[in-house]
Amino acid sequence: MTRVTVFPLRPTLVRDTRTMPSGAPADDLGVAAGCIRPLSVENTVEDVSPPDRLIRAMRPMVPSTAVVTDLHAHTNRSDGSHPPAELVDIAAALEVGVLAITDHDTLAGVEEALARGRATGVRVIPGIELSIKMPHGSMHLLGYFTDPAPAPLVGMIAGFAATRTERAEQMVERLHGLGLPLDWQDVLDGAAGAPLGRPHIAEALIRGGYVSTRKEAFDLYLADGGPAYMGSDGLDAEEGVRLVLESGGAPVLAHPETLKLDDAHLDPFVGRLARAGLVGIEVHRPEHTPDQFARFGALAGRWDLIASGGSDYHRPTSPHHPGATGDPPLSTDTADHLLGAVLR
Ligand SMILES: [Zn+2]
Ligand SMILES: [Zn+2]
Repeated sequence: MTRVTVFPLRPTLVRDTRTMPSGAPADDLGVAAGCIRPLSVENTVEDVSPPDRLIRAMRPMVPSTAVVTDLHAHTNRSDGSHPPAELVDIAAALEVGVLAITDHDTLAGVEEALARGRATGVRVIPGIELSIKMPHGSMHLLGYFTDPAPAPLVGMIAGFAATRTERAEQMVERLHGLGLPLDWQDVLDGAAGAPLGRPHIAEALIRGGYVSTRKEAFDLYLADGGPAYMGSDGLDAEEGVRLVLESGGAPVLAHPETLKLDDAHLDPFVGRLARAGLVGIEVHRPEHTPDQFARFGALAGRWDLIASGGSDYHRPTSPHHPGATGDPPLSTDTADHLLGAVLR
Protein backbone atom coordinates (compact mmCIF):
# COMPACT_ATOMS: atom_id res chain seq x y z
CA MET A 1 0.00 0.00 0.00
CA THR A 2 1.45 3.36 -0.98
CA ARG A 3 1.04 6.52 0.99
CA VAL A 4 1.02 9.70 -1.04
CA THR A 5 1.32 13.20 0.31
CA VAL A 6 -1.05 15.63 -1.33
CA PHE A 7 0.03 19.23 -1.43
CA PRO A 8 -2.35 22.13 -1.77
CA LEU A 9 -1.81 22.48 -5.47
CA ARG A 10 -2.76 24.82 -8.19
CA PRO A 11 -3.65 22.98 -11.39
CA THR A 12 -0.34 23.66 -13.13
CA LEU A 13 1.48 22.08 -10.25
CA VAL A 14 -0.58 18.94 -10.31
CA ARG A 15 1.45 17.56 -13.14
CA ASP A 16 4.69 18.13 -11.26
CA THR A 17 3.67 16.01 -8.30
CA ARG A 18 3.75 12.79 -10.23
CA THR A 19 7.52 12.89 -10.37
CA MET A 20 7.91 14.70 -7.09
CA PRO A 21 9.29 12.67 -4.22
CA SER A 22 6.71 12.32 -1.52
CA GLY A 23 7.12 15.02 1.08
CA ALA A 24 9.14 17.41 -1.09
CA PRO A 25 8.76 20.98 0.07
CA ALA A 26 6.84 23.38 -2.14
CA ASP A 27 10.01 25.23 -3.06
CA ASP A 28 11.23 22.10 -4.84
CA LEU A 29 8.48 22.69 -7.35
CA GLY A 30 10.27 25.77 -8.55
CA VAL A 31 7.65 28.04 -7.08
CA ALA A 32 8.87 31.24 -5.51
CA ALA A 33 8.76 31.14 -1.76
CA GLY A 34 5.59 32.75 -0.52
CA CYS A 35 3.48 31.79 -3.55
CA ILE A 36 2.37 28.57 -1.97
CA ARG A 37 0.80 28.59 1.45
CA PRO A 38 1.54 25.25 3.08
CA LEU A 39 -1.34 23.38 4.64
CA SER A 40 -1.20 23.45 8.38
CA VAL A 41 -2.15 19.79 8.44
CA GLU A 42 -0.73 17.52 5.77
CA ASN A 43 -3.38 15.65 3.80
CA THR A 44 -2.59 12.03 3.28
CA VAL A 45 -4.51 9.40 1.39
CA GLU A 46 -3.94 5.80 0.66
CA ASP A 47 -3.91 3.73 -2.51
CA VAL A 48 -3.96 6.54 -4.95
CA SER A 49 -4.42 5.64 -8.56
CA PRO A 50 -4.65 7.49 -10.80
CA PRO A 51 -3.42 10.72 -9.12
CA ASP A 52 -5.55 13.00 -11.29
CA ARG A 53 -8.72 11.49 -9.92
CA LEU A 54 -7.54 12.02 -6.40
CA ILE A 55 -6.55 15.59 -7.01
CA ARG A 56 -9.89 16.34 -8.62
CA ALA A 57 -11.55 14.98 -5.55
CA MET A 58 -9.28 16.81 -3.14
CA ARG A 59 -9.12 20.21 -4.73
CA PRO A 60 -12.42 21.52 -3.32
CA MET A 61 -11.32 20.51 0.15
CA VAL A 62 -7.96 22.21 0.32
CA PRO A 63 -7.51 25.93 0.80
CA SER A 64 -6.91 27.72 -2.45
CA THR A 65 -3.26 28.35 -3.07
CA ALA A 66 -3.52 29.28 -6.71
CA VAL A 67 -1.01 31.78 -7.91
CA VAL A 68 -3.54 33.53 -10.13
CA THR A 69 -5.73 35.97 -8.21
CA ASP A 70 -8.25 38.30 -9.85
CA LEU A 71 -10.20 40.67 -7.61
CA HIS A 72 -12.33 42.44 -10.21
CA ALA A 73 -14.80 40.68 -12.53
CA HIS A 74 -18.38 41.14 -13.67
CA THR A 75 -21.24 38.74 -14.38
CA ASN A 76 -24.54 39.20 -16.19
CA ARG A 77 -26.04 40.32 -12.88
CA SER A 78 -24.63 43.72 -13.83
CA ASP A 79 -23.11 44.44 -17.25
CA GLY A 80 -21.06 41.31 -17.88
CA SER A 81 -22.19 38.59 -20.27
CA HIS A 82 -21.64 35.38 -18.31
CA PRO A 83 -23.93 33.97 -15.63
CA PRO A 84 -21.98 33.80 -12.35
CA ALA A 85 -21.45 30.01 -12.47
CA GLU A 86 -20.16 30.22 -16.03
CA LEU A 87 -17.70 32.94 -15.09
CA VAL A 88 -16.37 30.76 -12.28
CA ASP A 89 -16.03 27.84 -14.72
CA ILE A 90 -14.03 30.05 -17.07
CA ALA A 91 -11.84 31.19 -14.20
CA ALA A 92 -11.26 27.56 -13.18
CA ALA A 93 -10.32 26.61 -16.74
CA LEU A 94 -7.84 29.50 -16.79
CA GLU A 95 -6.35 28.35 -13.48
CA VAL A 96 -7.57 31.39 -11.61
CA GLY A 97 -7.70 30.22 -8.02
CA VAL A 98 -9.10 33.33 -6.31
CA LEU A 99 -11.83 35.35 -8.03
CA ALA A 100 -13.82 38.29 -6.66
CA ILE A 101 -17.27 38.91 -8.13
CA THR A 102 -17.63 42.70 -8.26
CA ASP A 103 -20.83 43.57 -10.10
CA HIS A 104 -21.98 47.18 -10.24
CA ASP A 105 -24.17 48.09 -7.26
CA THR A 106 -25.42 44.55 -6.71
CA LEU A 107 -24.51 41.37 -4.88
CA ALA A 108 -26.98 39.32 -6.94
CA GLY A 109 -24.32 37.10 -8.53
CA VAL A 110 -22.42 36.28 -5.37
CA GLU A 111 -24.34 33.25 -4.03
CA GLU A 112 -24.34 31.43 -7.37
CA ALA A 113 -20.64 32.13 -7.85
CA LEU A 114 -19.83 30.92 -4.33
CA ALA A 115 -21.67 27.66 -4.93
CA ARG A 116 -19.84 27.12 -8.22
CA GLY A 117 -16.58 28.04 -6.55
CA ARG A 118 -17.11 25.33 -3.94
CA ALA A 119 -17.71 22.80 -6.72
CA THR A 120 -14.71 23.80 -8.82
CA GLY A 121 -12.14 24.73 -6.18
CA VAL A 122 -12.08 28.41 -7.12
CA ARG A 123 -12.09 30.60 -4.02
CA VAL A 124 -14.79 33.17 -4.73
CA ILE A 125 -14.64 36.46 -2.81
CA PRO A 126 -18.01 38.23 -2.40
CA GLY A 127 -17.63 41.77 -3.73
CA ILE A 128 -19.35 44.78 -5.21
CA GLU A 129 -18.36 47.80 -7.30
CA LEU A 130 -20.18 50.89 -6.07
CA SER A 131 -20.77 53.92 -8.27
CA ILE A 132 -19.68 57.07 -6.48
CA LYS A 133 -20.94 60.57 -7.18
CA MET A 134 -18.10 62.83 -8.30
CA PRO A 135 -18.05 66.41 -9.55
CA HIS A 136 -15.62 65.40 -12.35
CA GLY A 137 -14.41 62.12 -13.72
CA SER A 138 -15.88 58.88 -12.50
CA MET A 139 -15.19 56.94 -9.33
CA HIS A 140 -15.90 53.32 -8.57
CA LEU A 141 -15.34 51.88 -5.13
CA LEU A 142 -14.84 48.14 -4.71
CA GLY A 143 -15.88 46.37 -1.54
CA TYR A 144 -14.76 42.86 -0.53
CA PHE A 145 -16.53 40.79 2.10
CA THR A 146 -16.41 37.51 3.93
CA ASP A 147 -20.22 37.53 4.25
CA PRO A 148 -22.16 37.05 0.99
CA ALA A 149 -24.99 39.27 2.27
CA PRO A 150 -23.31 42.01 4.28
CA ALA A 151 -25.64 44.37 6.12
CA PRO A 152 -26.22 47.33 5.92
CA LEU A 153 -25.06 47.20 2.29
CA VAL A 154 -27.81 44.76 1.34
CA GLY A 155 -30.39 47.22 2.60
CA MET A 156 -28.94 49.99 0.45
CA ILE A 157 -28.96 47.99 -2.77
CA ALA A 158 -32.69 48.24 -3.48
CA GLY A 159 -32.34 51.99 -3.26
CA PHE A 160 -29.41 51.94 -5.71
CA ALA A 161 -31.46 49.94 -8.21
CA ALA A 162 -34.32 52.45 -8.07
CA THR A 163 -31.92 55.37 -8.56
CA ARG A 164 -30.20 53.69 -11.48
CA THR A 165 -33.51 52.91 -13.18
CA GLU A 166 -34.66 56.51 -12.80
CA ARG A 167 -31.40 57.80 -14.23
CA ALA A 168 -31.51 55.39 -17.19
CA GLU A 169 -35.08 56.48 -17.91
CA GLN A 170 -33.97 60.12 -17.96
CA MET A 171 -31.16 59.29 -20.39
CA VAL A 172 -33.60 57.45 -22.69
CA GLU A 173 -35.86 60.51 -22.57
CA ARG A 174 -32.92 62.67 -23.60
CA LEU A 175 -32.21 60.33 -26.50
CA HIS A 176 -35.85 60.72 -27.58
CA GLY A 177 -35.29 64.46 -27.56
CA LEU A 178 -32.25 63.93 -29.81
CA GLY A 179 -34.36 62.05 -32.36
CA LEU A 180 -33.45 58.51 -31.21
CA PRO A 181 -36.74 56.95 -30.11
CA LEU A 182 -35.36 54.05 -28.07
CA ASP A 183 -37.93 51.63 -26.74
CA TRP A 184 -37.75 51.71 -22.93
CA GLN A 185 -39.05 48.16 -22.69
CA ASP A 186 -36.23 47.02 -24.98
CA VAL A 187 -33.68 48.65 -22.63
CA LEU A 188 -35.27 46.87 -19.66
CA ASP A 189 -35.40 43.53 -21.49
CA GLY A 190 -31.73 43.87 -22.48
CA ALA A 191 -30.72 44.38 -18.84
CA ALA A 192 -32.61 41.22 -17.80
CA GLY A 193 -33.07 42.44 -14.24
CA ALA A 194 -29.50 43.74 -13.76
CA PRO A 195 -29.11 47.23 -12.24
CA LEU A 196 -29.56 49.51 -15.22
CA GLY A 197 -26.58 51.39 -16.54
CA ARG A 198 -25.29 53.18 -19.59
CA PRO A 199 -23.97 49.94 -21.16
CA HIS A 200 -27.56 48.67 -21.36
CA ILE A 201 -28.65 51.86 -23.15
CA ALA A 202 -25.66 51.53 -25.49
CA GLU A 203 -26.71 47.97 -26.33
CA ALA A 204 -30.25 49.14 -27.05
CA LEU A 205 -28.83 51.85 -29.35
CA ILE A 206 -26.92 49.14 -31.23
CA ARG A 207 -30.01 46.90 -31.47
CA GLY A 208 -32.00 49.88 -32.77
CA GLY A 209 -29.41 50.48 -35.49
CA TYR A 210 -28.58 53.98 -34.22
CA VAL A 211 -24.90 53.18 -33.61
CA SER A 212 -22.72 50.23 -34.47
CA THR A 213 -20.56 49.90 -31.34
CA ARG A 214 -20.72 50.64 -27.63
CA LYS A 215 -17.84 53.04 -28.07
CA GLU A 216 -19.79 54.99 -30.66
CA ALA A 217 -22.81 55.10 -28.33
CA PHE A 218 -20.64 56.54 -25.55
CA ASP A 219 -18.67 58.90 -27.81
CA LEU A 220 -21.78 60.35 -29.43
CA TYR A 221 -24.33 60.32 -26.60
CA LEU A 222 -23.61 58.66 -23.28
CA ALA A 223 -20.13 59.66 -22.11
CA ASP A 224 -19.85 61.99 -19.10
CA GLY A 225 -21.00 65.37 -20.33
CA GLY A 226 -22.46 63.83 -23.52
CA PRO A 227 -25.82 65.03 -24.89
CA ALA A 228 -27.81 62.18 -23.31
CA TYR A 229 -25.74 61.90 -20.11
CA MET A 230 -27.38 62.28 -16.72
CA GLY A 231 -25.30 62.55 -13.58
CA SER A 232 -26.16 60.32 -10.66
CA ASP A 233 -26.91 61.30 -7.09
CA GLY A 234 -25.30 58.29 -5.49
CA LEU A 235 -23.04 58.06 -2.50
CA ASP A 236 -20.15 60.42 -2.18
CA ALA A 237 -16.69 58.93 -1.83
CA GLU A 238 -16.43 58.98 1.95
CA GLU A 239 -20.00 57.71 2.38
CA GLY A 240 -19.09 54.80 0.11
CA VAL A 241 -16.00 53.96 2.16
CA ARG A 242 -18.04 54.14 5.37
CA LEU A 243 -20.82 51.95 3.95
CA VAL A 244 -18.37 49.21 2.98
CA LEU A 245 -16.61 49.39 6.36
CA GLU A 246 -19.89 49.34 8.30
CA SER A 247 -20.85 46.25 6.29
CA GLY A 248 -17.67 44.50 7.44
CA GLY A 249 -15.95 44.88 4.09
CA ALA A 250 -12.66 46.15 2.71
CA PRO A 251 -13.06 49.29 0.56
CA VAL A 252 -10.70 49.61 -2.41
CA LEU A 253 -10.44 52.43 -4.93
CA ALA A 254 -10.98 51.03 -8.46
CA HIS A 255 -9.09 52.24 -11.56
CA PRO A 256 -7.82 55.54 -10.08
CA GLU A 257 -7.16 56.88 -13.58
CA THR A 258 -10.88 57.43 -14.22
CA LEU A 259 -10.91 60.08 -11.49
CA LYS A 260 -9.03 62.16 -14.05
CA LEU A 261 -7.04 63.95 -11.35
CA ASP A 262 -3.46 65.07 -11.75
CA ASP A 263 -0.95 64.16 -9.05
CA ALA A 264 -1.46 67.42 -7.19
CA HIS A 265 -5.14 66.56 -6.72
CA LEU A 266 -5.09 62.75 -6.70
CA ASP A 267 -2.69 62.52 -3.77
CA PRO A 268 -4.76 64.54 -1.27
CA PHE A 269 -7.97 62.90 -2.50
CA VAL A 270 -6.60 59.42 -1.85
CA GLY A 271 -5.25 60.66 1.47
CA ARG A 272 -8.74 61.79 2.47
CA LEU A 273 -10.17 58.37 1.59
CA ALA A 274 -7.34 56.64 3.45
CA ARG A 275 -8.20 58.64 6.56
CA ALA A 276 -11.85 57.60 6.09
CA GLY A 277 -10.75 53.95 6.13
CA LEU A 278 -9.88 53.04 2.53
CA VAL A 279 -7.89 49.80 2.64
CA GLY A 280 -6.60 49.38 -0.91
CA ILE A 281 -6.18 50.87 -4.35
CA GLU A 282 -6.09 49.18 -7.76
CA VAL A 283 -2.50 49.16 -8.92
CA HIS A 284 -2.45 45.88 -10.86
CA ARG A 285 -4.65 46.19 -13.93
CA PRO A 286 -3.70 44.79 -17.32
CA GLU A 287 -4.24 48.12 -19.10
CA HIS A 288 -2.10 50.12 -16.67
CA THR A 289 1.00 51.53 -18.30
CA PRO A 290 4.32 51.20 -16.46
CA ASP A 291 3.87 54.88 -15.52
CA GLN A 292 0.43 54.29 -14.04
CA PHE A 293 1.67 51.21 -12.23
CA ALA A 294 4.46 53.25 -10.67
CA ARG A 295 2.22 56.22 -9.90
CA PHE A 296 -0.57 54.23 -8.21
CA GLY A 297 1.95 51.95 -6.52
CA ALA A 298 3.61 55.01 -5.00
CA LEU A 299 0.22 56.26 -3.79
CA ALA A 300 -0.42 52.90 -2.14
CA GLY A 301 2.92 53.15 -0.39
CA ARG A 302 2.41 56.74 0.72
CA TRP A 303 -1.03 56.16 2.21
CA ASP A 304 -0.36 52.65 3.52
CA LEU A 305 -2.90 51.06 1.17
CA ILE A 306 -2.82 47.50 -0.17
CA ALA A 307 -1.97 47.33 -3.88
CA SER A 308 -4.97 45.48 -5.28
CA GLY A 309 -6.29 44.89 -8.79
CA GLY A 310 -7.91 42.61 -11.29
CA SER A 311 -8.90 42.09 -14.89
CA ASP A 312 -12.28 43.93 -14.82
CA TYR A 313 -13.39 41.17 -17.17
CA HIS A 314 -16.92 41.57 -18.55
CA ARG A 315 -17.32 39.42 -21.67
CA PRO A 316 -15.41 37.46 -24.29
CA THR A 317 -14.80 40.65 -26.28
CA SER A 318 -13.22 42.33 -23.23
CA PRO A 319 -9.58 43.19 -23.93
CA HIS A 320 -8.35 41.04 -21.05
CA HIS A 321 -9.31 37.59 -19.80
CA PRO A 322 -10.08 36.63 -16.20
CA GLY A 323 -6.84 36.36 -14.26
CA ALA A 324 -5.04 39.03 -16.32
CA THR A 325 -3.89 41.57 -13.78
CA GLY A 326 -0.94 43.18 -15.51
CA ASP A 327 2.78 42.93 -15.18
CA PRO A 328 3.71 42.30 -12.45
CA PRO A 329 0.50 40.42 -11.63
CA LEU A 330 -1.53 40.83 -8.48
CA SER A 331 0.00 39.17 -5.45
CA THR A 332 -1.65 35.86 -4.51
CA ASP A 333 -2.38 36.78 -0.92
CA THR A 334 -4.04 40.13 -1.67
CA ALA A 335 -7.57 38.99 -0.77
CA ASP A 336 -6.38 37.77 2.63
CA HIS A 337 -4.55 41.04 3.25
CA LEU A 338 -7.61 43.11 2.33
CA LEU A 339 -10.03 41.06 4.40
CA GLY A 340 -7.51 40.76 7.22
CA ALA A 341 -7.17 44.54 7.35
CA VAL A 342 -10.83 45.00 8.25
CA LEU A 343 -11.08 41.99 10.55
CA ARG A 344 -8.31 43.28 12.78
ZN1 LIG B 1 -15.29 50.34 -12.68
ZN1 LIG C 1 -15.54 46.85 -12.97
